[in-house]
Amino acid sequence: MKSFSDLIKEVHQKGICQQCGGCVSFCNSIEHEVIGFKGSNSPPVYLNKDKCLKCSLCYLICPQTHALEEEINKTYNFSDFPTMPLGFFFNIYSCQSTDKDFLHFGTDGGIVNTIIHFLLEKELIDGAIVAKTLGPFSREAIIAENKEDLIKASGIKLDISPQLEEIQRFHTYTNSLPKLNQYRFKKLAVVGTPCQIYTIRCMQNLGIMPSGNIEICLGLFCYENFFFDKALIEKFEEDFNVKFENIEKINIKEDLIIRFKDKELRKRIIHIPFNQLKEYMRVACNACNDFANIYADISFGGLGSPDKYTTILTRSEKGRSIILKAIKAKKIRCTHLNISAKEKMKDLITQYSLNKVKRKENFFKY
Ligand SMILES: Cc1cc2nc3c(=O)[nH]c(=O)nc-3n(C[C@H](O)[C@H](O)[C@H](O)COP(=O)(O)OP(=O)(O)OC[C@H]3O[C@@H](n4cnc5c(N)ncnc54)[C@H](O)[C@@H]3O)c2cc1C
Repeated sequence: MKSFSDLIKEVHQKGICQQCGGCVSFCNSIEHEVIGFKGSNSPPVYLNKDKCLKCSLCYLICPQTHALEEEINKTYNFSDFPTMPLGFFFNIYSCQSTDKDFLHFGTDGGIVNTIIHFLLEKELIDGAIVAKTLGPFSREAIIAENKEDLIKASGIKLDISPQLEEIQRFHTYTNSLPKLNQYRFKKLAVVGTPCQIYTIRCMQNLGIMPSGNIEICLGLFCYENFFFDKALIEKFEEDFNVKFENIEKINIKEDLIIRFKDKELRKRIIHIPFNQLKEYMRVACNACNDFANIYADISFGGLGSPDKYTTILTRSEKGRSIILKAIKAKKIRCTHLNISAKEKMKDLITQYSLNKVKRKENFFKY
């Protein structure tokens, strides 16, 4: 039987812990905190090793062990369909929100938050774990229960202190899953990157709490996440001739897109290709081969869609039905895509997905 000690050896010590918090979310009881995070940007640690039951569940649900991959592929019918690189999907769309606030503040077409709002209105969920924006490269997980919360979790830029202490670090990743523990009795939607959604699916396959209250998994495309400490911020500013404090908003699509907030810079938008960002990328992302969030109910990204539109892949029956209902209710509008436009989008997403698969293979080769 594997235990948290094996995770430390096989995942943390190799530097590939995603810090999704899946293990932390299910393991701790009210009486005992067995494992937990001590400070940001480091893997969880044993807080009370003597209370560890060595049940091996943390090992099984970790997105970096892939211990349950075969089983979840069966659950998601992937035995009948190719898992990689795109996974199974019913349909592909390019859509934007009809709500001007979600569209204005949204990362792309404001679709993710519009769908969450629609589900809240219909009382199909009573909350969603999302990531509130603190700064261009800094977010924290919150439970959104209404439109106001969701707008806080859109792409709005709030100021960050230009006087960064050595201790302050910024990243595009949010370890949202420990939030699950606090909302055990709610029907939740979770927005997550592929590693987070994978962990949830493993928990659901094993039937362990707190995954039972997750009604729907809204997955984001993800090529990689970025991490900045003080030295890296200075290097980034020099390399790309930008000032962190002037950044209004970032987006990750076919590359990293930065928009500036200063009046004179307002029109300035720069694109930085992923291959120039290797030093800023979280090392753990090298060990992930899922770009298109293949285990989500619905996957969302900007890739393949024009500016201010979101690409949507519906993957489960539940996901398909929600998108069709949102279109019918005129919460979202979609561009008409003929077969060749759909094929083009699919090819582009496949290309990014294959690049990610290759990157993982190379990472473990050398
Ligand atoms: C780290 C990261 C990497 C990405 N990489 C790519 C990529 O390579 N290519 C691509 O096409 N798209 C990528 N995306 C997805 C893309 O940036 C948009 O999130 C997606 O297109 C949805 O846009 P929207 O306007 O419909 O969403 P919105 O309506 O703006 O809603 C976005 C939702 O995502 C939540 N969120 C934001 N950041 C996080 C986070 N770190 N963890 C969990 N939830 C979060 C917000 O709280 C909000 O609920 C990435 C997203 C993230 C967060």
